[in-house]
Amino acid sequence: MTSSLTQDRLDLSRRLFLRGTGGGLLLGSTLGFARPTFAQSGEAGAAAEPPPTGPAGRPLPQMEKEMPVEPERRLGWAIVGLGKFALNQILPAFAESRSSRLVALVSGNRQKAEQVGARYGVEARGIYGYDTFDRMGDNPAIDVVYIVLPNALHAEYTVRAFKAGKHVFCEKPMAVTVEECETMIRAGRDAGRKLMVAYRAQFEPHNVEAIRIARDGEIGRIRLVTSDHGRILDPRDPADQWRMMKSLAGGGSLYDIGIYSLQAARYLTGEEPVEVFGQIASPADDPRFREVEDRVAFQLRFPSGAVANLSSSYSTASVKRIQAFGEKGSLVLDPATEYEGNRLTLQTEKGRQEVKVKETSQFAAEMDHFSRSIMSNTEPKTPGEEGLRDIRLLQAVYRSAREGRPVSTEATGSLR
Ligand code: NDP
Repeated sequence: MTSSLTQDRLDLSRRLFLRGTGGGLLLGSTLGFARPTFAQSGEAGAAAEPPPTGPAGRPLPQMEKEMPVEPERRLGWAIVGLGKFALNQILPAFAESRSSRLVALVSGNRQKAEQVGARYGVEARGIYGYDTFDRMGDNPAIDVVYIVLPNALHAEYTVRAFKAGKHVFCEKPMAVTVEECETMIRAGRDAGRKLMVAYRAQFEPHNVEAIRIARDGEIGRIRLVTSDHGRILDPRDPADQWRMMKSLAGGGSLYDIGIYSLQAARYLTGEEPVEVFGQIASPADDPRFREVEDRVAFQLRFPSGAVANLSSSYSTASVKRIQAFGEKGSLVLDPATEYEGNRLTLQTEKGRQEVKVKETSQFAAEMDHFSRSIMSNTEPKTPGEEGLRDIRLLQAVYRSAREGRPVSTEATGSLR
């Protein structure tokens, strides 16, 4: 769908193109001799006037990205839960945002929220606690509520945000149960507001390029995807303490980072798995894994015959890798899902090459995408239904591991 901003730009470029071409022809014919033609950057291939020799205005150049929305038209975002991820990744990303601005913070620690608010220019009226959360409904500056709380709190605060009349951007995993996801989707629909799950990898430039390569058939039909996500769960880290509690995390490594492996298999094949098979290993004597699982190895089978071999781990050294193998080549993202510094390698019959991709903030990109979806009233790329699909599949992996057999899933059709 073309946004009105893009459309304006296209119209303007078209007008300039016509003007430039006409002007160039007129000038050439009037002078009566062949003049060199100049293709202006914004008018690919268009013969245009020669560049002026002195100071002069020039036509709008070809734009590499959309122009930012005027500051007063950017949507106002409230961040809920000022933990490790929100403070280190999300808040700084607003500096690179082009359609979104930070207007509110919600925290159980008022002093921290005030301190953070002062750094980011959030007004005192934009500071809320969990007890005053619902009052955000009275603040018209807030358009979007971004839930960055422990997983088991996503559903409650999403529903409350919808009741306050706001759009909701929710961290992964969307929620803990399928029923919670369905409640969240229904609440958004009832409120006439949008819901998007923060699947940042689908906005990360190397992953975006890998998806394009896969879709364009550059490595042929994809037959196999492998992906591994692992890290050491640290009980001294407050951000990991709730991750050891089933009541707050919902699950272990599978829910937290196995979801990246699952997403990769789905977005690279563009298919929905028809069967899953999972195995879980958790050391009985490790207190970190009293309530949640440590390692999960899981396989998916897709309608085309493609298969995926995936894993997640809370007790192995850091790994964030995605690989897709096709009939004509392969691609490797390693690392694949870091906050920055990811790398993409493409292997085809022409040889192996690192694909250089311009690094841009995946956080700003996903937030701006949601803001623009709201402004243009279009469906976001990763709506609640996408989050629900993953929770269904992750639940099927748990079931398969429990029952010791493959579990067939309800195929929901192609991703896009
Ligand atoms: P943290 O523990 O660092 O932050 C969670 C914050 O939630 C806390 O700081 C606290 O904020 C608030 N909170 C409210 N109630 C509780 C509670 N009972 N226990 C703990 N915290 C509570 O976790 P993360 O920032 O690592 O993760 C938060 C969410 O973000 C999770 O859903 C996680 O999956 C997701 N995430 C996503 C990532 C991605 O790449 N997309 C990366 C990392 C996390 P306050 O003190 O302000 O009230």
